[in-house]
Amino acid sequence: MANGFKSKFSAGGFIGLFLRILAVSATIAGITYFYFNVIHVNATTIALSYLLAVLICAARWGLVESITASVLAVLCFNFFFLPPVITFTVADPQNWVALFAFLAASIIASQLSARGKRRTQEALARQSEMEKLYAVSRAILLIDPSQNVGKQMAKQIAETFDLRAVALLDRAKREISRAGPEDLAEIDDKLREAAIQGTSFEDAKERTMVTAIRLGGEPIGSLAISGTLLSDTALQALCNLVAVGLEKTRAEQVASQAEAARQSQEFKSTLLDAIAHEFNTPLATIKTATTSIISEIVENPGDLKDLLRVVDEEADRLERVVADALQLARVDAGRVQLNLEPHSIDQIVHSLCEEMRSMTEGRSVALVLADGLPLVRIDGELIKLAIRQLIDNALKYSSPPAPVEISNRSDGEGLVISVGDRGPGIPEPERARIFEKFYRLADDRSRVPGTGMGLAIARQIVEAHGGHMSVESREGGGSIFSIFIPFNPKGVSR
Ligand code: ADP
Repeated sequence: MANGFKSKFSAGGFIGLFLRILAVSATIAGITYFYFNVIHVNATTIALSYLLAVLICAARWGLVESITASVLAVLCFNFFFLPPVITFTVADPQNWVALFAFLAASIIASQLSARGKRRTQEALARQSEMEKLYAVSRAILLIDPSQNVGKQMAKQIAETFDLRAVALLDRAKREISRAGPEDLAEIDDKLREAAIQGTSFEDAKERTMVTAIRLGGEPIGSLAISGTLLSDTALQALCNLVAVGLEKTRAEQVASQAEAARQSQEFKSTLLDAIAHEFNTPLATIKTATTSIISEIVENPGDLKDLLRVVDEEADRLERVVADALQLARVDAGRVQLNLEPHSIDQIVHSLCEEMRSMTEGRSVALVLADGLPLVRIDGELIKLAIRQLIDNALKYSSPPAPVEISNRSDGEGLVISVGDRGPGIPEPERARIFEKFYRLADDRSRVPGTGMGLAIARQIVEAHGGHMSVESREGGGSIFSIFIPFNPKGVSR
């Protein structure tokens, strides 16, 4: 591929060159005027003055300017100072030799200087390329694997190298990511060809380059850039960086899938443990009751009814455990399908209290419901389930006659539903953890039946609505659990 340091002449370039040639001509004319009209010196001094001017032009500008200077200097020297003066005739053949030596010295000096300058420019361009590559490599290390990686890399390359367009084809995903002000759609066939056959392509006029991205010799994609011609080394280094970036995210994704599978496996076994544990107590109670009934130990019809009530209550408890487990598995797998409709939270709380009447019997439950709260778009059944978990816990972790208080209010941006109790409260360090799956306070593990699933279910439901849950201590003892549901949730499909 051609080296990319040649520059195209633009209109601005031509004007600049024209001005420099004017300056060169003025310098030679000035020297000529000075020696012809102001002071008279010998021919060698004049020739050396011209040579000095030519060398300064060569060092300062380029080949074109210095050759112009040397040709003008030779012509002026010949016309004004070599006898016969004011003619281009050269009488003495030695002067011809002197003239050619002068011209050759000027050209060689200007070429050397131009070459030196080109080298410096190339070195500077290479240094700038290296700095940009370093910037890209740093950005690739910091890429966010949860977002589109190809798009992020294309954007980074376009910004760092200030390109018109960048197109990056990831062969594994069969996806082209673009960045830059232009979209470079016409290059797609070349991109595919490069990604499959490993070919390269360059259009110097359009300053567009396409090349394969290889990993271990195999093409894994291709990269097209437009707006500048990079050196071969820089382009290869850039492709290597992109290859590393693509591969790094691929490896991370594989690892996180493996981790997700492991977590799902762990979740299933913990769920089974919790269910098995929660099944044991009610099953043992049911078994004792039914054995007593079957073996006709119980003769009194009143006792028989009591035993049957125990069986009924324990069966309810089992049903709740199964329902909780299924619900948790559903919300944990992200399968919460929200059926959003406008609901009045008051109505939800009232119907919940109605449904929980048997559980709240003998308990003091106070409703402090604010007037005139707007309707909220929620999944009524799921939010009811979340509030139910809080009331369940408030009843379970506090004992009569301690009251349970259910209240609601608007806080401007959303609705807050709170359930307060006068139970033992939650120690500060444990407050975040109790919302985790299966987490239970050490004191409660043996004392109060439970699976540690209730708050996790409630939290997932509330978060699916764009809300959040919190717990705080209550003055005078106990805790208040609150659910916040925003009026205008972000990211919830309505
Ligand atoms: P479970 O009640 O089945 O154990 P939860 O997820 O509902 O599961 O609650 C997790 C833990 O948080 C409980 O085990 C208990 O230790 C603590 N907890 C929850 N609610 C209360 C409450 N109102 N008062 C005191 N502790 C509570």
